[in-house]
Amino acid sequence: MLDDLEIIEVAKDTVLFNEGEEGDCAYLVESGRVEISITDMGKKVFLGSVTPGELLGEMAIIDNQPRSATATVVEDARLHVIRREQISQRLEKLDPAMQHIFQLMAFRFRGNLESVRRSHTSREKPEYYIDPELRGRAVEKLRLEADLWAAVDHGELSVYYQPIIDLDGARFAGFEALLRWDHPERGVVMPGVFICLAEETPLIEGIGEMVIEQVVTDYPRLQQILEDHGDSRQDEFYVGVNVSPKQVNSLNRFQRIADIVSKAELSTDVIKLEITESQLVEITHVMEWVREAKSHGFRVAIDDFGTGYSSLSHLLHLKADTLKIDRTFVRDMLRHQQAESMVRAIVSIARSFEMDIVAEGIETQSQLALLSRLGCDYGQGFLIGHPMQFDDLAKWVGTRAIQH
Ligand code: C2E
Ligand code: CA
Ligand code: CA
Repeated sequence: MLDDLEIIEVAKDTVLFNEGEEGDCAYLVESGRVEISITDMGKKVFLGSVTPGELLGEMAIIDNQPRSATATVVEDARLHVIRREQISQRLEKLDPAMQHIFQLMAFRFRGNLESVRRSHTSREKPEYYIDPELRGRAVEKLRLEADLWAAVDHGELSVYYQPIIDLDGARFAGFEALLRWDHPERGVVMPGVFICLAEETPLIEGIGEMVIEQVVTDYPRLQQILEDHGDSRQDEFYVGVNVSPKQVNSLNRFQRIADIVSKAELSTDVIKLEITESQLVEITHVMEWVREAKSHGFRVAIDDFGTGYSSLSHLLHLKADTLKIDRTFVRDMLRHQQAESMVRAIVSIARSFEMDIVAEGIETQSQLALLSRLGCDYGQGFLIGHPMQFDDLAKWVGTRAIQH
């Protein structure tokens, strides 16, 4: 019946649903009035009225339990039928923590209904099902998020550096700053786990600024290490800093980070801000963002290139400095012709837009050789160097210097 009807007219005294029945839809009251009641020891207990603009019947859908009360139309009503899927599909898309909170709220609501049945003969608490898997994920997420707030205060986040080299001469061009979280119980937590959590809270802003602070503090020390090892690039290298989609939308951000850089008496072009290609979907935002970043003197790289769906015209307008080829192409290019063709295509796109190219995820000598043959300018990957704590960088630069 519901398949054909969106709005129904229901006459006074009709019972919409009974307590204990399966619930397949909710209702939005457009006009009229619906009374909600429960039956206790054969007596009707009035719980409340639902009037125009209000929803009823959603509880059974949220917690997948039978109707918690009876709904009776007490004034002729026009009702909008809200199908189960309209609610359940939205619920499924929610963050697991919110899904769990909804389940808990439904659970408590039903518990409260039980206590309304004052004269109930059995005093036993009703048993309701809370999805243990969902509860586990929700609790884990909330716990990790709470730890992350503390981690920022306790200085548990630190910046590691992964070298980026010039593929021709195998000299190095810069470093990428990659965050690590040294969790007191879990050990090192990778950014893939906690950046997405930070992005859901205001923490991401503070973390972003912390990374810049750390980078500008480390930069002169990096210059010193290079000089000590006789590397003439000490004045030219940059540090790539990843930027989250959330930060892309924040307007006053560049001034703040430009101030951090100039306070450290550095030029903003030592920082290359990396935004992922998937962020280009909101192209007008990103274009504005890149323009603003460049007007403050920052360099800009488009990260994970080849995995998103950006159109070439986007690139034309972006005026970024660098394209970073996603590591999946580097991983596959020796085995799959398509991946190699993709690398070739990206190289030629970058050339026509006057951008330089960094290939990510180089793990073998043959990958490095092929990338170099295909015309990639720069590369990074475990073959060249893992992301390292600052103290290990000096040793790394030492071993590289010997190879030259
Ligand atoms: P990304 O920007 O694409 O960073 C490169 C990732 O590839 C890093 O993972 C790096 O450790 C890894 N990698 C480097 N070389 C190789 C290799 O040869 N093989 C393989 N398999 N992997 C390699 P990581 O450090 O786990 O970072 C993951 C992502 O987290 C980064 O991806 C970036 O999107 C994000 N991230 C890291 N630090 C920050 C940060 O400070 N702020 C923001 N917003 N995001 C960050
Ligand atoms: Ca990156
Ligand atoms: Ca990347």
